[in-house]
Order: sequence, then structure tokens, then C-alpha cells
Amino acid sequence: MAQIFCIANQKGGVGKTTTSVNLAAALSRIGQRVLLVDLDPQGNATMGSGVDKHTLEASIYQVLIGQSELGQALQRNTKAGYDIIGANRELAGAEVELVDLAQRERRLKSALATVQTNYDFILIDSPPALGLLTLNGLCAAHGVIVPMQCEYFALEGLSDLVNTIKQVHANLNRDLRIIGLLRVMFDPRITLQQQVSEQIKAHFGDKVFNAVIPRNVRLAEAPSYGLPGVVFDPGSRGAKAFIEFAQEMVDRLAVAA
Ligand code: ATP
Ligand code: MG
Repeated sequence: MAQIFCIANQKGGVGKTTTSVNLAAALSRIGQRVLLVDLDPQGNATMGSGVDKHTLEASIYQVLIGQSELGQALQRNTKAGYDIIGANRELAGAEVELVDLAQRERRLKSALATVQTNYDFILIDSPPALGLLTLNGLCAAHGVIVPMQCEYFALEGLSDLVNTIKQVHANLNRDLRIIGLLRVMFDPRITLQQQVSEQIKAHFGDKVFNAVIPRNVRLAEAPSYGLPGVVFDPGSRGAKAFIEFAQEMVDRLAVAA
């Protein structure tokens, strides 16, 4: 039975999609069965997995509004080794259209229930907002992974996210917990980043993953080849860090079980 994780942070450009596609690829590499759901109208996780968002027959949008079965939107065995449900700009309409539908926050959860036994991990890449799409991701998930840059304002936005997660936990999804904060785009030469990293550890303790994702240009180049960095250049520092992170996820879950 798959464990479902939502990769979330309402700040834009903090590394959610890079984390989603590379964690998916890294987990696949270490033998896990993975489904990645792109829940962002930008469709970056779709393109970054080598699937053309412009030519999707069905996407997560149709699934959410009840026009397609999940199976129709699911693409098997991307080049990176995991399955994906793609998204494109059509999905932006769902923020409005979902409002009038029954069980509007739980539609992704119901859809994923039909395939949960086929995977070890289901990862959800969410958009940079705390709207109905992200809410669907949080309602479907057992845990949240929060990628964050070690910069001055990083902690400020975090309290909104933590409050939203608390509310979802209280009202909609008792399973939900923060699995961990992942430090990304880390540059140890920058003193401020080291200081913020220490602050994050002091404040959140063992909720901070040991793995740290370095700033690494290979991770940034990979999407233009339609590949996660882990597949594009497995020997790069960024790829190795994501493999470490994937192993840490597997180990943490084994301890929790
Ligand atoms: P959005 O909020 O728009 O969905 P995001 O949180 O998904 O953004 P990404 O798209 O993953 O963020 O990353 C933002 C930019 O930073 C991208 O150009 C990506 O290639 C680059 N990037 C992410 N992680 C790294 C890294 N570790 N090293 C170098 N570049 C990175
Ligand atoms: Mg993104």
C-alpha cells in the first residue's frame, strides 16, 4: 500500500518540482514503485519527466472534475522509471470549478485510492499557493515534505504552511503530518545559508532531513532534456544527494512502521 507524500511550500521557485521529480527517480532507482502526480497547472513535473504537457490525452484536471478515470491519465514507465499523471494549464480552471463539486477537497484522495496498492510511494508536486489544488494534495497525503532554501525569509512563509497543515490535520485529514523539511539549493560557502540552516535545525529538530540538496547546475539543466537530474547525470553531486534523500525517506518510514 503506497505511502502518499505531498511536496508543498506556497513560496514559488523553492525547489518543489526539482524535489518531486528527483525523489521519484531516486526512489525508483533504489527499487521502489513510484507514481508522481503533477498537481500544478505549470506542468513542470510533467515536462521534467519527459512527458509533453501539450499533448496529454487526459490529465489530472479531468480526473479531479470527474471527466476521466485515473487510469486514463496515467502514463507508465517514463524514462526515469516511475509512472506519472500529468498536468497542464487546463488545471488552473480546477481551482474555480472544484468549488461547486461534492467532496471538493477529497477528490484527489478518492482517485488515488484506486491505484494505491500498485505503488510503494505516491508523490504529489503542488503549485506555489495554498488553494484548493494544494488542499487536495494535503488531504490525499500521509505526509508533507517541505523543500526550503536557507535564506532569510524562508522561515517567515513557513508559519502559513504549518498553520494550513494544522488546520487540514484538525478538520480534513487526521493522517497528515510534516515528514520533514528538506534543505535545498544549499551553498555551504555562504555564511548566511549556514546560519539559517542551523536555525532551522534548532527550531524543527528531527523534522529536518539529514540529507541536504546542494545547489548544482546539473539539476537545473536536466529538465530541458526531459529528465530528472538523477537520471540525466547520476554522478553529479545533486543526483547523489537525492539518492541519499530517497534512502533516508525509506529508512524513516521503516522506523515509523
Ligand atoms: P514553482 O513554485 O514555480 O512550482 P518550484 O518550487 O517547483 O517552483 P523548481 O522549479 O523546482 O521550484 O526550482 C526553481 C528553479 O531552481 C528551477 O529553475 C530549478 O531548475 C532550479 N533549482 C532547483 N533546485 C536546484 C538545485 N539544487 N540546484 C540548482 N538549481 C536548482
Ligand atoms: Mg514547481
